[in-house]
Amino acid sequence: MKIGLPRALEYHRSHRVWEAFFGGLGIDTVTSPETDACILKRGAELSVDESCLAAKIYMGHVDWLKGKCDMILAPRLDNFEAGEDVCVKFNALYDTAKAATGGPILGYNVDGKAGCSEQNAFIKMGKGLGLPRRRVAAALKTALCEDTLARRRLKENARQTFDTGSKPKVLIVGHTYNVYDKLIGAPIINYLSEAGIDVILASECGSDPRLAAKLARTLYWTYSKELVAATAEYKDRADGIVLITAFPCGPDSLTNELLLRKLKSLPVLNIIADEHTSGTGLETRLESFADVLQARLKIY
Ligand code: SF4
Repeated sequence: MKIGLPRALEYHRSHRVWEAFFGGLGIDTVTSPETDACILKRGAELSVDESCLAAKIYMGHVDWLKGKCDMILAPRLDNFEAGEDVCVKFNALYDTAKAATGGPILGYNVDGKAGCSEQNAFIKMGKGLGLPRRRVAAALKTALCEDTLARRRLKENARQTFDTGSKPKVLIVGHTYNVYDKLIGAPIINYLSEAGIDVILASECGSDPRLAAKLARTLYWTYSKELVAATAEYKDRADGIVLITAFPCGPDSLTNELLLRKLKSLPVLNIIADEHTSGTGLETRLESFADVLQARLKIY
C-alpha cells in the first residue's frame, strides 16, 4: 500500500509524525512536490473562488497525487479541546479531497470536544488499515517522540538566532503552510535572508500558548494562538515583524489586525498573498522594509 501526502496545510505541521508513523508500520508514502504554478492553477480550478489561497494550493496537491498512490491522507481536524479550535477549512479537508479525487481518501477525525484526541484518531486510523492496536500504538509513540525532538531543535535554533549575531532580526508570523510554501513564504524568507537579515519563524518558536493572552485574550484558534504567543514572547527582541497571510483568510484577518494595533512601536510588514501576487511588487515592499530596519538599527 502507498499513501499520498499532499504537501499543503496540515502536512507542514504533521509530516514528521505522518512519515514516521507510516514508516513504522511498513507503509510507503509519496509526497506531492513543492508548490509550483501548475499545482496552484489546478487547485484554483478545483476550488470555489471564495476559498483561501492555502486551501486552493491544497487541492492542487491532492490532484497531483491522483493515480500515484492507493489512498490520499486527508485528516478532518475540528478541535483539540474546548477553546482549541482549528479553522473550518481543516474540518472540510476529508470531504474536499474526496470531492476532488473521487478516489479513496484515508482520514482521521480529531474532535477533542467529542472525546476524540489526535492520538486516538491515529490509533483508530491504523486499526482501520487492519493493523493490530499494539503495533499501531508503538509506531505512533516513536513518531511522536521524533517529532518532539525535532520541535525542540527548531525552538532552540529560534532562541539562538535571537541571542546571537548583530544582524537585524525579523519574526515571520504566518501559518506553517504559508511560510514553508514554495510560492507563498519561500520568496519572502529568501529575500530577507539574502538582504542580511536573520529570519525567525514564529511557528518554530514553540512558545507557551498561554503567552498569547498577553496580546489577545479571546483567541480560540490553536494555530493562531501559537503564532500570537511567539509574537508576545519575542516582540521586544525583534527589529521587525512580517505577517504573512493567504487571501482571504478569516482567522488571520482578525488576528493580524489585532497584532497591527498592538505592535505600534515595531516596523510591521503585512503581506497578503493571493493567486496573482507579483514577484516584482513583493520585492519592492521587502526592499523598503529591509531599508527601514537597517536605518532603524543605525538610529537606536
Ligand atoms: S486559517 Fe486562513 S489560510 Fe488557514 S486554512 Fe483557514 S482560511 Fe485558509
